Amino acid sequence: MYDILRFIGVTKDATTAGPGKRLELFTKGCIRGVISPCEGCFNETTWAFEGPYREMTVDECVEMIDRDAWNRQVTFCGGEPILQAKAITKVAKKLKEIDPTFHIILYTAYKVDTLMKYGLKFTWIPKYGDAMRNHLMDYSYAYSREMHRTQFIILTPNDVKELMEYVDWIIDGDYQADKRLTTHETMHDGWFIGSSNQRIVLCKATLERGVLVYFTPHEYMTMVEKNKTCKCCGHIIPKYFGRFCGERCYRRYYKRQEEMKLLGGV
Ligand code: SF4
Repeated sequence: MYDILRFIGVTKDATTAGPGKRLELFTKGCIRGVISPCEGCFNETTWAFEGPYREMTVDECVEMIDRDAWNRQVTFCGGEPILQAKAITKVAKKLKEIDPTFHIILYTAYKVDTLMKYGLKFTWIPKYGDAMRNHLMDYSYAYSREMHRTQFIILTPNDVKELMEYVDWIIDGDYQADKRLTTHETMHDGWFIGSSNQRIVLCKATLERGVLVYFTPHEYMTMVEKNKTCKCCGHIIPKYFGRFCGERCYRRYYKRQEEMKLLGGV
């Protein structure tokens, strides 16, 4: 159960989905997009639950990420990935078992503190379309049907906490056009947060301390400016470091360079 994931696309070496070059998976379907989209949303094609989309099992998804995420940096964005959180939790858990250095980010328009307290529920009515209901039936472990409504419990607070055990960062909050951070219209300037209300929630620290631990975009960018970033994984390292955060990233980077040369990409 909860073994199906639906994606609209996958981008390799994305530079706008978190630190470094990341494997970015765009999930299919956004309730908010269908009902009341965020103004200025840059990803309209992900809203509808109707096709086209690519369906993968958890194992297929793990296999693809393990093969393609050369520097172990992975991002789930949308659409609304939190709808598929139960399957994503399984994927993230398996990836960490294969290699604990996988760094996994998930974007959601919902606030993490609210999700941790109340979980996520949704009442479907026919005007939202059968595809949305059918997908939510795959993602939600409990629902009740009355006449023309279906009550979905998409996530319980415990489901959210389980997700946070395996996902490293959650970028939370809806995109707000009036708080836009970047000026380039497609955001292709190396930054990965759309608006200043969104936060970088550090999942492990939040679970350990029992309070929400996060950076605002301003705090994160200030750290980047005062330090530098690893050439391989893209994470912040002190200025006195070399170009990499350690031996592992050094080796991964140059192995990748060699592979790209063989493919004629460098
Ligand atoms: S910004 Fe995200 S949450 Fe908002 S409508 Fe677009 S895909 Fe949905």
